[in-house]
Amino acid sequence: MTVKRKPEWLRINLKTGRSLDYVNNILKEFSLNTVCQEANCPNRMECFSKKTATFMILGSQCSRGCKFCNVSHGELEKVDANEPENVAKATVELGLKHVVITSVTRDDLPDGGAEHFSKVINKIREKDPNIIIEVLIPDLQGDEMALKKIIDAKPHVINHNMETVPRLYEKVRPEAIYERSLKVLESVKKMDPSIYTKSGIMVGLGEREDEVLDLLRDLRQVGCDYLTIGQYLAPSKEHYPVEEYVHPNIFKKYKDEGLGMGFSFVASDPLVRSSYNAAEMLAHT
Ligand code: SF4
Ligand code: SF4
Repeated sequence: MTVKRKPEWLRINLKTGRSLDYVNNILKEFSLNTVCQEANCPNRMECFSKKTATFMILGSQCSRGCKFCNVSHGELEKVDANEPENVAKATVELGLKHVVITSVTRDDLPDGGAEHFSKVINKIREKDPNIIIEVLIPDLQGDEMALKKIIDAKPHVINHNMETVPRLYEKVRPEAIYERSLKVLESVKKMDPSIYTKSGIMVGLGEREDEVLDLLRDLRQVGCDYLTIGQYLAPSKEHYPVEEYVHPNIFKKYKDEGLGMGFSFVASDPLVRSSYNAAEMLAHT
């Protein structure tokens, strides 16, 4: 198999420096994981300077094994009862204005970790009610009672990523179900229309343009407000291969089409990640 060479628009230079060290030290102090560091996200400097970061709760091991994802799936850890307090403290210490909380998938827990999510939300709000809280949640195996626990904690935004078009689910996301993921977003809007919903996909996995546009329509059908589209980059040679480096013009086209369909905000660019420009999105409501 030949590995495709990255095009010019994906070659970036991450300037490291004091602010990354500062963030690293605080994370270490509170024993927390961020997606930003774990995934070596190329947008770290920009996000941290805009006071945004994404914490990953419920451990570092996932109960699923998506073919595109770098999170490990070894022995699942005990849920850390101090994590809600620690996430809240770190959020305040880092001076975050917009915090994104995500997790590994925990199909082993009776409520998929929903209660823990709600505790994290409540602790952050206790410390500072002005912080915007976005949660990027797993599908909770379609358990609506579990989902309600998160909705009742009233985060500002609930994000659930569709990741890719339905035809590719079996290959890249075998333990997920396209319709079930859509239903998560639909149920949030039905249970509490005041919560903004958001979803994201990766392109470059072998999807066709017409399939992407159908997916966007499905999202609008369930009232999804915000959308992110980014280039898939394989974490290693063992992961699902990059089928294509999608040209920036196609990203622009998806953005225009999405806005035309009624999304309030669409971030579509090769380097966009699920939580990229999270704070800016909320300004577009
Ligand atoms: Fe972190 Fe998301 Fe920003 Fe990347 S895009 S640095 S994961 S908040
Ligand atoms: Fe990664 Fe999420 Fe899939 Fe787990 S469920 S392997 S964290 S994408």
